[in-house]
Amino acid sequence: MLIVMKAGASPAQVRAICEHIERLGLRAHPIPGAQRTAIGITGNKGAIELSDLAGLDGVAEAIRVSKPYKLVSREVKPESTAFALGHAQLGGRELVLMAGPCAVETRDQVFRIAERVARAGAQALRGGAFKPRTSPYSFQGLEERGLEILAAAREAFGLAIVTEAIDHESLRLVAQYADMIQIGARNMQNFSLLRAAGRCAKPVLLKRGMAATLEEWLMSAEYLLSEGNYQVALCERGVRTFSDHSRNTLDLSVVPAVKELSHLPVIVDPSHGTGRRDRVLPLSRAAIAVGADGLIVEVHDEPERAFSDGLQSIYPEQLDQLSADLGKWAPLVGRGWRLTT
Ligand code: PEP
Ligand code: MN
Repeated sequence: MLIVMKAGASPAQVRAICEHIERLGLRAHPIPGAQRTAIGITGNKGAIELSDLAGLDGVAEAIRVSKPYKLVSREVKPESTAFALGHAQLGGRELVLMAGPCAVETRDQVFRIAERVARAGAQALRGGAFKPRTSPYSFQGLEERGLEILAAAREAFGLAIVTEAIDHESLRLVAQYADMIQIGARNMQNFSLLRAAGRCAKPVLLKRGMAATLEEWLMSAEYLLSEGNYQVALCERGVRTFSDHSRNTLDLSVVPAVKELSHLPVIVDPSHGTGRRDRVLPLSRAAIAVGADGLIVEVHDEPERAFSDGLQSIYPEQLDQLSADLGKWAPLVGRGWRLTT
């Protein structure tokens, strides 16, 4: 259910409607728009009596939302969402580049790579301090020490930090240190973790599960928004198919599909999407062409010695190339890149 306020409705009228909704035992989500404010309603078990709300002061109309997801849908919020990530805006006209190693390995390694990430013009440094690994015997991450290293790199290089939370314990720590909390593919349907991340005051990067449909992915994002966190970006990182020439199949056709259905920004991860260093730049170009708001890529200066995902980590020189390429591609799709040539 969605309440659309009249264009001239006052903040007091919006507040009064929200209070009315809360008195009914429901949750009100005011969504300010360019023309008018809308109020999403969640928490209802069945249909709400429309006429109860349609006649209230300042209300233009009350409409039923036809999709199972509500707050993430363009029906509820036609304008695309943009929010701050460090000094950058994610979902605005400017493209955003997040880059860094798969995992935080040592302070030295992070600082060497972060210096190159900053120099290439990326706005955010990625790197896992808590790693969800297929094998319990593989490197699991430096945990809080890793987060301290990332925070030190933020100070040194002015980069926003994007790092993964894998469970409730790590979420508590990640929310303290990070600028953006990554929820990984394997946790896309960990609903209790999503609810907890929805109560954090930090933006969330929600990766698509490796076998998730678009609707399942949006429903997971709905968990985050329904808890009050509206700073959510979706990340396509490849899905499992029969294709055997790459680690995953990067589903770029999902980008315009998401854009049609949802107002949330979309980031593409060509590193996990392909698993191959030599595919990262071509697929980055394609991602920008289909309307992605940004990229997240893995970079390592010694990928042959990386603790994880070395094969898909590009060299710093390739990151420089990617950044220079963004300068050429961005204007072709009506976007900006901070280092536009
Ligand atoms: C990662 O970003 O290193 C990662 C584990 O990603 P995903 O959840 O997409 O596999
Ligand atoms: Mn990785």
